[in-house]
Formats: sequence, structure tokens, C-alpha cells
Amino acid sequence: MLACEVALHGVPVVVLERLPEIETHPKAEGITGRAIDILDRRGLMAGVDGPPSQPTAEQRTRIAMGERRPDSLQPKAFPGARHFATMFVLRPESPDLLVPQQLLERDLARRAADLGVEVRRGHTLTGFTQNGDGVRLDVDGPDGQYRLQADWLAGCDGGRSTVRKLAGIAFPGTDGITTGYRAFAEIDDPDFHLPGWFRKDNGLLVYEEGPPRFITLEFIGPPASRDAPITLTEFQEALRRLSGTDVTVTKVHKINRFTDNERQAETYRQGRVLLVGDAAHVQSQWSGPGLRLGLGDALNLGWKLAAVARGQCHEDLLDTYTSERHPVGAQTLEVQRASIALMRPGPHVDALRRLFTHLLLDVDTNRRLTAVVDDLHIRYDMDDPSLTGPLVGLYCPDLRLKAANGDAKGALNGGADGTVRLAELQRTGRPLLLDLGADPRLRALAEPWSDRVDVVTAECAEAPADALLIRPDGFVAWSTPADEASLPRALTRWFGHPARVT
Ligand SMILES: Cc1cc2nc3c(=O)[nH]c(=O)nc-3n(C[C@H](O)[C@H](O)[C@H](O)COP(=O)(O)OP(=O)(O)OC[C@H]3O[C@@H](n4cnc5c(N)ncnc54)[C@H](O)[C@@H]3O)c2cc1C
Repeated sequence: MLACEVALHGVPVVVLERLPEIETHPKAEGITGRAIDILDRRGLMAGVDGPPSQPTAEQRTRIAMGERRPDSLQPKAFPGARHFATMFVLRPESPDLLVPQQLLERDLARRAADLGVEVRRGHTLTGFTQNGDGVRLDVDGPDGQYRLQADWLAGCDGGRSTVRKLAGIAFPGTDGITTGYRAFAEIDDPDFHLPGWFRKDNGLLVYEEGPPRFITLEFIGPPASRDAPITLTEFQEALRRLSGTDVTVTKVHKINRFTDNERQAETYRQGRVLLVGDAAHVQSQWSGPGLRLGLGDALNLGWKLAAVARGQCHEDLLDTYTSERHPVGAQTLEVQRASIALMRPGPHVDALRRLFTHLLLDVDTNRRLTAVVDDLHIRYDMDDPSLTGPLVGLYCPDLRLKAANGDAKGALNGGADGTVRLAELQRTGRPLLLDLGADPRLRALAEPWSDRVDVVTAECAEAPADALLIRPDGFVAWSTPADEASLPRALTRWFGHPARVT
């Protein structure tokens, strides 16, 4: 995703990926909250406007097992409910995307190829040194070792990030207190337990029929070894402990062992080296924060890195990547810790869960928690008091826009109802100055930045302001009411000095 974001602005990118192919082992089964909107704003979502179709639980399992693949990324209305800490019903604002991570990786790989990104599979980064104006990389490729000189290095290399370790960036946080398994497996007695999600005296047991799918969670500390092969016996023992039966596992198709490390890099930038996604933060997988955070990181960093690489902005702009995204990651780790705490067995946590359930019956409280879990609550501190309007720092909703006089570029040739969604306008990855109050002075003020900022004049029934400057990541950088002089300041702050001054 980061490579695509940078390449979108014409900056050459090389991706080094040690795996020769996309990993087939199941990882994420779904994408939630803000991440769905992010994919939509880059045109990576199919059928957002169409009627959602929902796979059955059995189809979902077959998809996760790799037996069946949906054709495209399409959000599905979840027929049941989203949960927090396996119990509390949440009210998501948008449908979830129930697809295996491999599908997202496949679509992103296609997009990267379309954008001219050079993806070198089977190439492992083994070392690097930062030298004045660049980074020299040591790479182990299929034809031996070689060196590569780059201007910038983004470590998107997962929780055990080589880049983070070699950079010596501290990774403080908390160790796991649980061991769990997620498995697609066969058992000798399908009636060994009722299907469903069960809170037990010693943890959590999930059993879904169809092709059987299991999740176990026990508060027995982290696994003794994270790398040891997972044996059928250890999974069977967990299943027996939690079900209180002597069920026998006859075959394991696919299995993951997981714990709940919550750690975050002290900084996301060290000179010309940046960290993104799991390399910057690891989190337990409950409620699916991993992809949401990683996609959010990529969207925040991509346009900034491209602008710096193109010489349009000073490299200080990259410090706003840490100052904006680090607090979001920290908040997520807090939510994940709270969620694990609320899953602990025992009468005290039972009481706490009853209290939470009671509080979450209140619609507003429920919405607030959902917003936090789904990253809908983010307000970036944009670090310039003179630009602080009521909407600055917030994510701009997906406004429906209709062409108005002055839409010189004809960007708003709408659909059947004559409207265009903001998400569609943002697919170019370019910043947008939305003039919703037909004020010709705005276009004149932004003219010096016309090589990098699009101005669109439109009508909008639910306009949150008369004018909005929207960054490529969808966040509002400036909005009315504000004095006119603040618009050029905001344009300069985020998109650099104008190429020519009128
Ligand atoms: C069982 C399981 C279930 C999960 N469920 C969910 C879920 O439902 N929802 C959700 O959002 N998240 C979920 N996650 C988490 C999610 O999978 C991760 O957050 C996500 O994969 C992180 O993406 P990433 O690109 O940052 O890192 P990764 O996906 O780890 O990708 C890093 C890549 O870097 C490559 N690499 C590593 N080192 C090097 C090197 N030195 N040189 C070259 N290449 C290198 C690796 O091969 C890998 O392909 C789950 C994870 C697991 C394991």
C-alpha cells in the first residue's frame, strides 16, 4: 500500500519481499472500520454502492481455508454483530470486509504493478547504512548478495522487523499473557460441544460447524516458543482443556498459534528510515486492528514521502508521520489491552463485563466505543494553532458533490443522480481544495499550487463548511471559517512552497 501511495505521485519505488509468493497461511480474515474507507478512496473496493451480498459462515470458512475465493474486495453487511472482547455488541458505521488478507495482498500487488512499482520477490534485506543523503541496502537475492542505494527506506517488514532492529529503534510494550489457536481441523466427534462462542472458566472456546473452525484462548502466558512447529497434540490438549471433553483431533488443515504482545516503536522515523504497519507496532488480533492501522500508516506517510522525494517539501514533513500516527497506534494498544483484560476468566471480570454490557446498551456510549475501536475518532494534532478551524485534523466524510458553476475542470461529471462521492475524487491521491460556497477567491489563492493541488467547486447538501482543504489521506488541513491568509499558509505547510508565485 505504501509503495502504491508513493508511486501514485510518480516517484520510483522498489519493494524487496523475501517470500517468493504471497503467503497462503491464513492471517487476517477481515478488514474493519476506517480501513474500508481508505481502500475506497483509492478505488480498491468493488461494489461499494451496490447491494452487499453476504457469504454464509461456511463460505467464509472455505474462503479462509483457500478452497474458495471471492472475486473482489466488497464490503459485506455482517448479519450478526461486531464484538468487542468477544461479548459487547458494537454498532459499526460501515459494513465489514470479510475477506482473507491474501486477497488484499493480491489486489495491492496488481495495483503496484499497474503503477510501475518494481517488486522483487525472493529478495531479503540483510543490512543497511544511512549515509548523508541516502541509505545503502544489503540484499540477499536469488542470484546472490548485492547492494542497492536508495533515498529512503521504509521498513514494512512485519512485527519482527529487520529494519527496526538494525536501526536500533526501541520497541517497548507488554508481553503476551495468553496462548491461543485458530484452526481449521477435523475432529472425531462433531457433537463434542455446542457450536458458538463460549466463555469458559479457563478461557474462550469458539467452535463453528461446516468445515469445522476453532478458536481457543487460554490465560496461561505466551507460547514457550513462537517458532516451534504447532503439533496436533498441543492444539488437541487446548481443545480438551477448554471443552472438558476427550475430543480427538483427527486432521489439521491450517492452524495459527497466537498471543497478545502489544508493543510500539519509540519513533516511526530515524533519519531516512521509516517504520510502517506491524514493523511499527504489534497488537493482538482481536477486533482486527493490524490491517486497519497499517493501511492508515501507509496513507498518512505515502504522500508526504513522495512530496519530500520530489523535492516539493522539506523532510521535516516526515516528522508529522510519527506525531500523527504514533498516538493512534498507542491508543489501539490500550484498547487491545483492555479487550484482553475483559476476556480473562473469573467472577471479577464477569462482574466487569456485566457492567460494560449495561453501559453499552446506551447508544451514544456504544457509538463512542465503536468509533475508538474502528479508528473513526482520530483527530490529528496539526501542530499549527493559526490553522485550527473546527474541522482541521478530522477525517472528511465521504461527501456527495454536485457540479456547480466554476467547476472548470469538469471533475464532477457525476453518476445517474449527477453527484460524485469525495472518495472518487480522491483516487488520484492529490490534495483537494473543495469550494462548496462558490467563492472565486479560493481558486485564485490556490492557483500557485495548481501543479499539485486540485480545486473543485461543487454543491453539497451536507457541506460541513464553505471550503475545505483535504489532504491525500482524507484529513482536513484547513477549513472555513478562517481568515483568507491562512489558506496559503496551510497550502505551504502541507504541500510545500508554490512552484511559481503569481
Ligand atoms: C492468525 C492471524 C490473524 C489475524 N487476523 C487479523 C484480522 O482479522 N484483521 C486484521 O486487521 N489483522 C489481523 N492480523 C494481523 C495482520 O495479519 C497484520 O497486522 C498484517 O499482516 C501486518 O501487515 P504488514 O504488512 O505490516 O506486515 P506483514 O504482513 O508481516 O508483512 C511483512 C512482510 O515483510 C516481509 N519481510 C520480513 N522481513 C523481510 C526482510 N528482511 N526482507 C524482505 N522482506 C521481509 C515478510 O515476508 C512479509 O511479507 C492477524 C494476524 C494473524 C497472524
